[in-house]
Amino acid sequence: MCWASEVVKMAGTKDKKPEKKPKTGTPSNTSVCVVCHEEKTGHVVRDDLLIRSIRAVKNFLHIAANNRLVVCKGCVEKHRAKRADFEKKLALYGGGGLLIIIIFTLISRTLQGFAVSLLLGLFVAALALFSYHPASEAK
Ligand SMILES: [Zn+2]
Repeated sequence: MCWASEVVKMAGTKDKKPEKKPKTGTPSNTSVCVVCHEEKTGHVVRDDLLIRSIRAVKNFLHIAANNRLVVCKGCVEKHRAKRADFEKKLALYGGGGLLIIIIFTLISRTLQGFAVSLLLGLFVAALALFSYHPASEAK
């Protein structure tokens, strides 16, 4: 556990870390680096909720490449920085979103106020996804 995910927990948001359970049977021979997008071997990227969702959508649309996602040796440093940046933003926006929900709900004291603040809070939290970067074994 790194400090960023601890902060996420302290902020009271849902911890979006992937489960420890290893995923088996990904049918692919090629592995692609998530940083430089070249076919390389390296540290395996952990499947998380977002990657699984994207893959499910792609499978549904029959455009899934099913490449194995890795971080190649040359990109480990860049990958760590990107992941740390994402975790920081997730904590920031997640915490901010939660704060918005709490404050607006307390101010309005209505169900409508709660609904609006919930949407607003979720929207703010979703901003973190713009800097999304998956976790890997290299971390
Ligand atoms: Zn690379």
